[in-house]
Amino acid sequence: MSQKLTGGQLLDISKEYGTPLYVYHAEKIREQYDKLTTAFSSLPARFFYACKALTNLNIIQYIHSIGGGIDCSSINEAKLALQAGVPKEKILYTSNGIAFEEIEEAVNLGVHVNIDSLSNLARFGKKIGNSYPVGVRIRPNILAGGNLKISTGHERSKFGIPIDQIEELKTIVDQYNIHIKTLHIHTGSDIKDADVFVQGVKVLAELVPHFDRLEVIDLGGGFKVPYEPDHDETDISAIAKKLKTFLEEHLYVNGKKYEIWFEPGKYLVSEAGYFITKVNVLKQTHSVNFAGVDSGLNHLIRPMFYDAYHHIENISNPNGEEKIYTITGYICETDTFASDRKLPEIREGDYLVFYNAGAYGFEMASNYNSRFRPVEVLVKDGQASMIRKRENFDDLLRNQVAMF
Ligand code: PLP
Repeated sequence: MSQKLTGGQLLDISKEYGTPLYVYHAEKIREQYDKLTTAFSSLPARFFYACKALTNLNIIQYIHSIGGGIDCSSINEAKLALQAGVPKEKILYTSNGIAFEEIEEAVNLGVHVNIDSLSNLARFGKKIGNSYPVGVRIRPNILAGGNLKISTGHERSKFGIPIDQIEELKTIVDQYNIHIKTLHIHTGSDIKDADVFVQGVKVLAELVPHFDRLEVIDLGGGFKVPYEPDHDETDISAIAKKLKTFLEEHLYVNGKKYEIWFEPGKYLVSEAGYFITKVNVLKQTHSVNFAGVDSGLNHLIRPMFYDAYHHIENISNPNGEEKIYTITGYICETDTFASDRKLPEIREGDYLVFYNAGAYGFEMASNYNSRFRPVEVLVKDGQASMIRKRENFDDLLRNQVAMF
């Protein structure tokens, strides 16, 4: 049975730590990690958690403790992973649009590095040459992912070196004798279809003969999770099976077994996270029945940023008579979490939980409107522990420099 925290547990934790708060569930993260490793057990696969989804050190440490590597999208994430005790061989850094100095810093840290532009690759060649094996992120020109905002592999995307510039890439590699260890793609987020991964590996397979020291095919992240109670799970075993068939027929033919790396973010932590708020005000208008909560786009921006769906439940009145509500925040912008949702009667002071809040929830939170960022709590072995304090007024003042 799938790991889940109950409304009662979440209510108790909310009363103890106050709202708004994020609650994460270690055993659910483990369940997701185990699903991946089991499905891919017959391939030389490795999993690096895309920690941009949720960088709390305790989460990084927990994922490291169950066997996962850590994928980083900035040098600071790489430093956080090191700080969390993850060895450099288990840290992967995939840059995008950054200054070359950051790549040099990553090399100095000794982590795996993927480069995503020809200009930085040329700088890498000039400065570092072939002394440090490196990966290149390719833009495969595949349109995939839940919507355009989270789609990264298509032909108008800023990410990666376009596949049609392979000749330029090879020229740079040859010129500086760069040791290309990894070919990388990440086509987007919310992908359920096994064929997208096969299509991606097909694109990379054509490039393989050009790089004789290649060891790794890195297929990025993007596994979709169910958002609504009746949504099906992504069939990871079906993806693994299809990839295995393709790899055995096309890539593993000369006895060379390239490692297959993945960078799951959402898949590991989305469902393990809950965001709980309290209802401040009810406002019945002639057309809309608003429930305004003690949070807003400053704490959970996904619905406003890219129309993400979060299932919501009223955990303090679960058996109330159902009515239609629009759930909004307290920010001075339109910050609608959900429109026209059927929910058990909401009263002022009720607690609403937003599901699928582990990934890109707290991580995208801000201090907009000078609000404090929420508490984070991790539940493990039935025990709830605070893993980040709620901010306070001093946090708002930190780093401000008095001029008057
Ligand atoms: N890898 C890269 C390079 C990414 O850009 C992302 C997401 O932005 C991920 C992995 C993780 O994606 P997801 O959370 O959908 O698994």
